[in-house]
Amino acid sequence: MPGIAYVVIIATLAATPAARRLVYTLALLVALVLVWLGYLVTCRLWPFAKCNRCNGTGTRPAPGRKAFRNCPRCKGTGRRLRIGRRLLDRKANR
Ligand SMILES: [Zn+2]
Repeated sequence: MPGIAYVVIIATLAATPAARRLVYTLALLVALVLVWLGYLVTCRLWPFAKCNRCNGTGTRPAPGRKAFRNCPRCKGTGRRLRIGRRLLDRKANR
């Protein structure tokens, strides 16, 4: 059974404290990379988020009145590109 051999090898490698620290660090790095990749995938599928300035309404109201103008940050769209999507687009344009 090759599976048992892997378990024995990993258990032997993780026996010393230094090796255990290395295994933990690698596992943490792999987890971080997976989270980062997952974030980029969601930014590819859902590239927009609510504009921070107008909270997605696209308008900037005049104080105490019904009047409003377009939100200058999002130009009235109420949306902003997520940071991950901006990174993906920059990579695609190069
Ligand atoms: Zn806005």
